[in-house]
Amino acid sequence: MARDRTFVIAGAGHAGGRAAEALRSQDFDGRIVLIGEENYPPYERPPLSKELLRGDDGVERTFLNPAEFYAGKGIEHRPGTRVEGIEAEAHRLRLGDGEALDYDKLLLTTGGRVRRLTLPGADLDGVHYLRGIDDSLAIRKALAADASIVIIGGGFIGLEVASSARARGCKVSVIELQDVLLGRVADAEIGRLLADVHGAHGVEVLTGIGVERLEGEGRVRRVVCSNGRALDADAVIVGIGIIPNAELAEEAGLEVDNGIVVDVFGQTSDADIHAAGDVANHPNPILGHRVRLESWQNAQNQGVNVARNMCGVRVPYAEVPWFWSDQFDINLQMAGAPESWDRLVWRGDPASNRFIVFYMAGDVVVAVNAFNLGREVRIAKFLIERKTPVADADLADEGIKLRDLAR
Ligand code: NAP
Repeated sequence: MARDRTFVIAGAGHAGGRAAEALRSQDFDGRIVLIGEENYPPYERPPLSKELLRGDDGVERTFLNPAEFYAGKGIEHRPGTRVEGIEAEAHRLRLGDGEALDYDKLLLTTGGRVRRLTLPGADLDGVHYLRGIDDSLAIRKALAADASIVIIGGGFIGLEVASSARARGCKVSVIELQDVLLGRVADAEIGRLLADVHGAHGVEVLTGIGVERLEGEGRVRRVVCSNGRALDADAVIVGIGIIPNAELAEEAGLEVDNGIVVDVFGQTSDADIHAAGDVANHPNPILGHRVRLESWQNAQNQGVNVARNMCGVRVPYAEVPWFWSDQFDINLQMAGAPESWDRLVWRGDPASNRFIVFYMAGDVVVAVNAFNLGREVRIAKFLIERKTPVADADLADEGIKLRDLAR
C-alpha cells in the first residue's frame, strides 16, 4: 500500500477507533488521521450507563486503548476537532479550525446524537441526556442517595440508568410511552418480565404514559405526565433514542436514508467514502434486508470489516445482530431480528429469571432473547445464521443440548 496515501476517519468513537487500528494491522502504511469532536481517545459506551455511572470504574476503563496507543501506531488522533464539510470530488475535508485536509479514502463513523425532548421545561437545569463520557459523569453527580430521579424513555438507556440509580440509592421512576417496555425490539412478554424485575427492585415503571411538561424555577422539580400525575424530580434523565449524524454525508451528496446508505462492504454511493457503526444503514445478508444497528457489536465489528475493505480485502459484513444489557441481577441478551414470527418457544422457566426464548418463523429460529443464559445465545446465533430447521419440542427440552441442535 502506497505510503503517500491518506485515509481519514471522521468520528473517533468505538467504530472509528477500531477501524484505525484495523487499517494499521492490514499493513496500510500510509497516513491515518482519526478526527473526533470529543476530548477523549476512542471509548466503549456500554460502561457509561453501568460501571462508570455507578462509580465502580474510572473513565480510563472505557477507553479502547490508552491515549498514547494511537501515536505509537502512527495514527494521528485529532481530538476536539469537528469535520465541517466534505468536498467529495476534490477529496478534501473542511475542519472546524479552518484547515483543509485532503484524503484518498474517507471513513465516516459519525455515530448519532440524542433525540431531545421538545416539551415545555425541557431546557431546565437538571435535565440530562446520556451519550458520552461527560454526560455519564454529570448524571453520576445527580444520582445522590435518596434523590428522586425520573427517567423518560424505557429503552436500554432508561432501564440501565434506572438500575444504576437504584444501586446508588436513588428513588427511581421510569416513564415509557409504549404500553410495554422494549415493545419495538422484543415480544411484549419480555417487556412485562423486565418491568417485573424493575418493580421488584423498587423502580416505579409507568408505561403507556407520555410526559406533558417539566416544571421548576430554573431547575427541574417536577415531571407532569399526560394522565395529570406529577412526579417530584431532583433530576430527569432522558433516553428517547438517537438520531444518526448523517448530515455531513447528505450535504456531500451521498445517499442517505435513515443513516448513510452503504453496501455490504461499507461503501457509500461514492467509491472513496465508506461508513460504519451507528450511522451506517447496511444490508444484512443473513436477515435479507437493510439495518442500522446502534450496538457495541456493530461498532466493533463493522468498523474493522470496513477498514479491511478500504484496504482492498473484499469481505462482506454479515453477522447475526446481538445485544446485551445488564439490569439488576439480569443479563439480558438478544440475537437476530424479531420482526415477524409466528410463535415463541420457551426453554427454562421465565419466572426463574433464567431462560431463553426462541422466536420461530415456520421451523426456523429468527431471534432469541435470554435472561442470564448468554452461553445459550451464543449457540442460538448459529441456528439463526444457518436457518437450521428445528422442532419446538427439542428447543424446549432442557435435556437436549442446544449445541446438538445447532450442528
Ligand atoms: P431506545 O432503545 O430507542 O429507547 C427509547 C424509548 O423511549 C423507546 O421505547 C421510545 O418509545 C421511548 N420514548 C420515545 N419518546 C418518548 C417520550 N416522549 N416519553 C417517554 N418515552 C419515550 O433509545 P435509548 O434507550 O435512548 O438508547 C439509544 C440507543 O443506544 C439505542 O439504539 C439503544 O439500543 C442503544 N443502547 C444500547 C444498549 C445496549 O445494547 N445494552 C445500552 C444503551 C443504549 P418509541 O419506540 O415509541 O419511540
